[in-house]
Amino acid sequence: MRPPERWPLHPAPAETESLSSWLRRIAASYGMYSYELLEHGLGHRELSDPDLNLNPPMHLLEELAKRTGLDQHRVSAMTMAGWVPWLFDSLDLAPDAYETYVHQLSVLLPPKRRNIYTPRKWLPWLPEAGARRGCPDCLEFSPALLLVWQLPVIASCPVHWCRLETYEGHPPDYIRWTTPAHDQRPLPKSLSLMDRRTWQAITTGSVDLPRYPVHAGIWFRLLRTILDELTTAQGRYGRQLDDVRRVWEHCGHPFRAGLYSWQPFETLHWTAQQQLLEATAAAMELIEAGSLTALGTSAHLLRPEPSPLISDGTPRGPLTATAGAQEKPTLDELLKQATDALDACIAAAKEDPVVAKQLFDFARYGCRGDQSLRGLRQTFAELQIPLDFLSQTENQRPFA
Ligand SMILES: [Zn+2]
Repeated sequence: MRPPERWPLHPAPAETESLSSWLRRIAASYGMYSYELLEHGLGHRELSDPDLNLNPPMHLLEELAKRTGLDQHRVSAMTMAGWVPWLFDSLDLAPDAYETYVHQLSVLLPPKRRNIYTPRKWLPWLPEAGARRGCPDCLEFSPALLLVWQLPVIASCPVHWCRLETYEGHPPDYIRWTTPAHDQRPLPKSLSLMDRRTWQAITTGSVDLPRYPVHAGIWFRLLRTILDELTTAQGRYGRQLDDVRRVWEHCGHPFRAGLYSWQPFETLHWTAQQQLLEATAAAMELIEAGSLTALGTSAHLLRPEPSPLISDGTPRGPLTATAGAQEKPTLDELLKQATDALDACIAAAKEDPVVAKQLFDFARYGCRGDQSLRGLRQTFAELQIPLDFLSQTENQRPFA
């Protein structure tokens, strides 16, 4: 006989809870294990926790939605597949996945300075083995295991302001906390702020940055970009080497987390991943404070809104011909002038289609191929310049 459509007992999922955790809690309410619920309640073979949480069959999600009365999107959001395209471009392996995800933005280093490492079979954020991390305070009150705890994208709990800790066992039946002593350090404020922004991205779809809110997709790629820049080979840093060293000194960890050879962030041990996340948070803090030169094209997202300067028309001293010889502007002053001019241009382009088109035409010099143009359009979208301003003269579809 076919079981009833709706299960009588189905505890509500916690915010960002993983599918395996939710199934386990539903099964527990019937005194079953989740593999028994899969088999007897859904007629489905057993699936491992990583398989349930990564990309389970669509018909299983549909059945679960029917049995619990939950919206199917809500069920899907308990899996990694439900986070495409925000956190992942795709869960399918693609040869240019790394370059597309990590190299489109730049923060600390000019884009050309980046190493073009392109690891094969790479997906952002996914560790090779299922991670077992959680917030002890959260688990004290609820047995729900969050999907985001399994990814090295967050290192602390934004609710309890404490570090996530590693564990062994199967909560809630058995759990043994196993965080080694060297990972039990106080939580830096900069890391807590970065993790609260990540949490905002996950739960609301956007992040409030100093200048303006950005889409969650931009935030995750911004994070992954800085993680990449902080592990770039030392020889690529050029004049930014001192700045990058200062970031590592600021967070108190060895330069490049002590790595001797480059490898993707996702394959590193959690201890090194935490150090890199802390260094990323420290870099953001220094950029926001205006004490770090960041030459990447997306660094402005982390800087506060510049105070509007209204000129009375009088040329400023260092730029006049007579004063130039005596008071030649320093490189920092020139960079600031260029940044201010660009900021003004971007602000005008948000309002005026003609300015937007001129800025786009200027920026597209040097762009080769569709991918570069797509990257440029994404940057415009990220800057909140309406892409339909460009459609009057562009034949391509706006970047979606
Ligand atoms: Zn917590």
